[in-house]
Amino acid sequence: MNQTIASSIRTIPGHPKPGINFRDITTLLENPKAFRMTIDQFVQRYMDQNITAVAGIESRGFVFGSVLAYELSVPFLSIRKAGKLPAETISQSYQLEYGEDVMEIHKDCVKPGDRVLIIDDLIATGGTVSAAIKLVRQLGGVVVESCFVIDLPDLGGSKKVQEEMDCPCYSICEFE
Ligand code: AMP
Repeated sequence: MNQTIASSIRTIPGHPKPGINFRDITTLLENPKAFRMTIDQFVQRYMDQNITAVAGIESRGFVFGSVLAYELSVPFLSIRKAGKLPAETISQSYQLEYGEDVMEIHKDCVKPGDRVLIIDDLIATGGTVSAAIKLVRQLGGVVVESCFVIDLPDLGGSKKVQEEMDCPCYSICEFE
């Protein structure tokens, strides 16, 4: 695990509710060395994998994903909460701890056969990224990998996504 990156991430106990350790990447973004190391690590991993698009999950996936897409010279695709994207979309619901939420993607942004890298700041239960994977696949894209700055392996999301969604997961840091 990369210590400079891991130690730049702030933990807020009890946010947004008791029992949750919120892993706050704003402190990573405020640290230019850690931010550069994070992006460089992703660039090194994906520069030779013929990625044709990077799809970021709203909202913290946009911050890392847009810079990564720029560095890889490929399109950046937005996966957003329902009702935010202006053109024609497809939707995918996913489970939250209580209730469900819906993610959307513009129907015309993935080209059949696109080799898409999905990115978010963190994977916990894997519900959010699973919805994103389904959206990209529904439009004919191949999800090469899903990547994260942080994995919370105790919640089992990355294992589940690899096994049940048949999609590799890569994370820079792991936290309990
Ligand atoms: P999940 O769908 O359970 O994998 O949750 C992943 C999404 O929720 C990501 O977009 C994260 O930004 C956010 N998230 C979940 N748990 C945490 C946490 N402990 N700290 C920060 N963000 C979290």
